Amino acid sequence: MVDRLNDKVALVSGGASGIGLAIAKKFVDEGAQVALGDINAESGEKVAAELGENAMFVTLDVTKEEMWEQAFKDVIAKFGKVNVVVNNAGIGDQYNVENMPLDYWNKIVAINGTGMFLGTKHGVRNIKNYGGGSIINMCSIEGLVGESFAVGYDFTKGGVRLMTKSAALYCAEEKLNIRVNTIHPGYIHTPMVDPSPDLVKLEESKTPMGHLGEPEDIANLAVFLASDESKFSTGSEFVADGGYTAQ
Ligand code: NAD
Repeated sequence: MVDRLNDKVALVSGGASGIGLAIAKKFVDEGAQVALGDINAESGEKVAAELGENAMFVTLDVTKEEMWEQAFKDVIAKFGKVNVVVNNAGIGDQYNVENMPLDYWNKIVAINGTGMFLGTKHGVRNIKNYGGGSIINMCSIEGLVGESFAVGYDFTKGGVRLMTKSAALYCAEEKLNIRVNTIHPGYIHTPMVDPSPDLVKLEESKTPMGHLGEPEDIANLAVFLASDESKFSTGSEFVADGGYTAQ
């Protein structure tokens, strides 16, 4: 299919790399107009140019509220509205509860936690002006199960899972016609994971299917959640993990 997102305008945070990039590409392929928001302007500008006239880049640090406000203004100025926000920007973790430095804890909470909250807050405030739509929060299997070497990541992803349900319930109560859901990827081949061959090997051995996923496996779920096909889903968790959390 090539038209599942006709007439949709989406803002994808962390759109310059990995899963966010795959989502932006697939959204354009399905007929959407897409803004890629990222702190990495060099890569973001390049990718947006490659995607053509239905894509744009906006400089966005998800931890800064004024940058979210400006990003929405820019998207609406160019494409006329906004229907979909994918809160995807995030960073990884390699610390356990004993050795996590406070500086890194504060950084990961700001990006993976506060960044998702701000994107959801301003997503609701803007999308409701255009008849409703969908907010998709990139969580993780680590919003469902723990990993000893990722204490900050687990804290933030656990929080995103329930913050999303709170926002979904609010939007339903207020009849805003905005659905808010989480996607929970297992380990996926991206620049967050691939530079650590030991991690890739470990997670291959822990994944029942015996291999990591591709960014497109997650982008396919995002297309479903961005489209009207998912009109009865809100506050829900969508897992694609090669069987990881079935164990
Ligand atoms: P990635 O490192 O390839 O991409 C992350 C993007 O986020 C980069 O373009 C980066 O510049 C951007 N970013 C980082 N900090 C930012 C900030 N403050 N403001 C705006 N942009 C910022 O990572 P990825 O693997 O594609 O991860 C994307 C999302 O998927 C993350 O939320 C991650 O936690 C989640 N996830 C990834 C995996 C995996 O195995 N790769 C598994 C589960 C969940």
